[in-house]
Amino acid sequence: DKVAAETHIPCGVCWQCRHGRPHTCEKMELFGHAINGGFAEYALIPDRAARKIPQEIPYEYGCLLEPMGIPYRAVEKGGVEGDAVAVIGCGPIGQFAISFSKILGADIVIGIDVNEKRLDIAKKMGATYVINPQREALVERIKEVTENYGRGVGVVIDASGNAEAMKEAFTYLRVGGRFVILGQTDGPLPINPSRDVVFKEAEIIGLFGRRIWDTWDKTERILLSKKINPEPVITHKFSLDDYKKAFQVALSGEGCKVLFIP
Ligand SMILES: [Zn+2]
Repeated sequence: DKVAAETHIPCGVCWQCRHGRPHTCEKMELFGHAINGGFAEYALIPDRAARKIPQEIPYEYGCLLEPMGIPYRAVEKGGVEGDAVAVIGCGPIGQFAISFSKILGADIVIGIDVNEKRLDIAKKMGATYVINPQREALVERIKEVTENYGRGVGVVIDASGNAEAMKEAFTYLRVGGRFVILGQTDGPLPINPSRDVVFKEAEIIGLFGRRIWDTWDKTERILLSKKINPEPVITHKFSLDDYKKAFQVALSGEGCKVLFIP
């Protein structure tokens, strides 16, 4: 059988696990942290983290079901149907957020990144507009393209972890909009609670991990339906022997999703 792995390995007994939230398990183990990771020809996967995947899904796509889960949740929580969506950060998570937004019925999807290569990929993944804030006036451009959507987006999905970019997003999040944060940062996010949250009636939603196995079921069905083509996101494949080069490429941002083919 083909098997993919959930990287959040729940204990199954803590309060979170007992209340339908194993992805935020209080004693969560993670591959490559507390136990051996997946950069190997063979990996030992606890049964509670193992998922059999259909034969017709190639391994290169099967391993993407895990990173697809969190952007899928973001899009679902965001309620994107018929609305305008901005995705900050066009790494793999952002790219999948763009695709799922289109698949779940968003009218306009705006991909934001300073990396032109990633913006090109974003177009292939379904972005209606791509904006490089170093080259264009971001806020003005968003207000322009959302003229018929209340001059702002109804949903912001942050997949960048860039606090400055998140702060700026409050200026183009429409009143009554939802701000879904996936990106992680140690830096502070200075916001004005009255202006940015209360008067804006903004909903701020943080998400961490997939709903096991709900988001897996949904992303697997989308993959099988071929509504999503993950190929443009997979920019590099390396053997384990070339791990140094692989990490260099991944850290440089010159690619997008970098895969090991053991
Ligand atoms: Zn637990």
